[in-house]
Amino acid sequence: MTKIYFDKTFSPLTSEEIVAKEKNNMDAKRFKHCIGVSETSRKLAQLNNYDPEKAALAGFIHDYAKQVPNERFIEIIKTKGFDQDLLNYNRAIWHGIVGSYIIEQELKISDPEILTAIKRHTTADTEMTTLDKIVFVADFIEPNRDFPGVDEARKVAFANLDAGVGYELAHTLSFLVENRQKIYPKTLAAYNVWSIK
Ligand code: GDP
Ligand code: FE
Ligand code: FE
Repeated sequence: MTKIYFDKTFSPLTSEEIVAKEKNNMDAKRFKHCIGVSETSRKLAQLNNYDPEKAALAGFIHDYAKQVPNERFIEIIKTKGFDQDLLNYNRAIWHGIVGSYIIEQELKISDPEILTAIKRHTTADTEMTTLDKIVFVADFIEPNRDFPGVDEARKVAFANLDAGVGYELAHTLSFLVENRQKIYPKTLAAYNVWSIK
């Protein structure tokens, strides 16, 4: 029997069907990460007066497109009305922004709040809904994450969700600069809004 990770699917598909599609679309390690993000999203929702089951679903599917081949992302960006500047970035950015399009097609979820949270889960944005913040932060602090600073990130995020967003953006920006990687403009704009202590 398939284990169920959320009560509501916001889709004509059943929970079992969504779980099966998700499992099929990624390796075991990524699937485990998605379960971790789902559980952490549920906890953060409970702490921030948000629908825990909706958060658990959004967290579960946030990386649905993580292992989609580059060619497919590029084809969608070129033909489905996406900002062509996306082509100057890479799959780290695409799997959320373009991933939400793939999720709408394949998981038949059209709830705008869920799709926006998926779009923003990697880069964040200047404006973020409670669900955007929950998924963004849960992705960073879920139990399988292990990097210097993760315990502090958990402490900060469980005490205050906005502060968790700021902590994560500062950490991600430092990491990108350290590795001489391009900063997606939205990531930088989000940092300027959310990093203020
Ligand atoms: P994951 O999908 O669970 O691995 O986590 P994320 O979706 O948050 O991040 C995926 C990758 O995107 C990470 O390696 C981040 O460092 C990277 N990333 C986040 N923001 C930016 C950005 O502005 N520019 C670039 N090049 N990479 C970014
Ligand atoms: Fe991701
Ligand atoms: Fe993730």
